[in-house]
Amino acid sequence: MKTLKVSIVTPDGPVYESNVEMVSTKAHSGELGILPGHIPMVAPLQIAAVRLQKDNRQELVAISGGFIEVRPDQVTILAQSAEKAENIDVHRAIEAKKRAESYLQAKRDDLDFKRAEFALKRAMNRISVSENRY
Ligand code: ATP
Repeated sequence: MKTLKVSIVTPDGPVYESNVEMVSTKAHSGELGILPGHIPMVAPLQIAAVRLQKDNRQELVAISGGFIEVRPDQVTILAQSAEKAENIDVHRAIEAKKRAESYLQAKRDDLDFKRAEFALKRAMNRISVSENRY
């Protein structure tokens, strides 16, 4: 079976590199499913899971937005942060979710509100990925 080389890279370094049969994630424009031979493209990504199909199983990586660059035999994801499901500290994510929720309830200024909304999304994404709910 044909495969794609997928690299997920953050400012702190590489997080994931493997040959996979399919990669899917969420672009701003909607769901993306990439198979080998896909036309070249670049797209901005949402805070979401990256699902990697490999040897009849699925690996999950949580990313906090970024960009995807697709070539026929290679996919590179440049993410603000990325964690493999097994490396996610769920307790930390639950605490981050609580903190963000209390900020949102306090309804401070717009900047805090936006930051808290993104923090909440990152935390919920990490919780979902670690629980394999994608
Ligand atoms: P927190 O408030 O818990 O720091 P955050 O969403 O503000 O969460 P980020 O700024 O997105 O954190 O990430 C900072 C660094 O910490 C990144 O390297 C990221 O991969 C890592 N990180 C954040 N949350 C977790 C987590 N729950 N489990 C593992 N690594 C995490």
